[in-house]
Amino acid sequence: MRKKIVAGNWKMNKTIEEALALVSEVANMVKDEVSTDVQVVVAPPALYLSTLQKYTEAVPNLGVSAQNCHQKASGAYTGEVSAAMLKSIAVEYVILGHSERRQYFGETNEQLAEKVNIALENGLTPIFCCGESLEQRNGGNFLEFVSSQLTESLFHLSPEDFAKVVIAYEPIWAIGTGLTASSEQAQEMHAHLRKHLAAKYGQEAADNTSILYGGSCNEKNAPELFACPDVDGGLIGGASLKSREFVNIAKSF
Ligand code: PGA
Repeated sequence: MRKKIVAGNWKMNKTIEEALALVSEVANMVKDEVSTDVQVVVAPPALYLSTLQKYTEAVPNLGVSAQNCHQKASGAYTGEVSAAMLKSIAVEYVILGHSERRQYFGETNEQLAEKVNIALENGLTPIFCCGESLEQRNGGNFLEFVSSQLTESLFHLSPEDFAKVVIAYEPIWAIGTGLTASSEQAQEMHAHLRKHLAAKYGQEAADNTSILYGGSCNEKNAPELFACPDVDGGLIGGASLKSREFVNIAKSF
């Protein structure tokens, strides 16, 4: 059956000293307190990935993720990081299609399909983000909008490749706002997405896909969200910057 995953997206935060302190605290607490059937992931800024791996490598259920990668293999793309570079330093995961990347860097579903491809070609596990704006939710067709994000960026994949993808549902109106989706709202979307995946890849593949919830998830609301039958963990922003709270979230299943 599908994996339980709690991933911390540090975004553009922390100096190297702060990052080292955070990762070592998280690593110690995960080792001592978190059940080994929960996969914990930290996604620091790309600059720190190699350095922080020394801490995560020592804990079997703790991994590192990049926050993005470029869609091309290599070349004249100043400032960018490729999937092959991430692979070459043994990074395991890459977050793709976060709403901040879509909003501030104009990432489209089409471009994200290319990023998913290159990530998989390099053996990385994509954590593919999807989610609707408040306007779309109020407009009423938010379920279809989010499932179309999956169709356009993932449904070209072979069943073998699709099986390697993790999905994160993050309603944009809940990210960094303190407004969490209720467990009913999260469950409704997650069940809808799983049905959508089943229609394309079959029920077994859909049942094996981890679908994480993200958006103001914290130690208080995580137990209720993670208790939903179709919520398989979380993608945590703000609360992942505090070691105690982040690890408490990973203990919330
Ligand atoms: P948040 O961010 O937990 O701070 O709302 C979640 C995310 O953007 O992944």
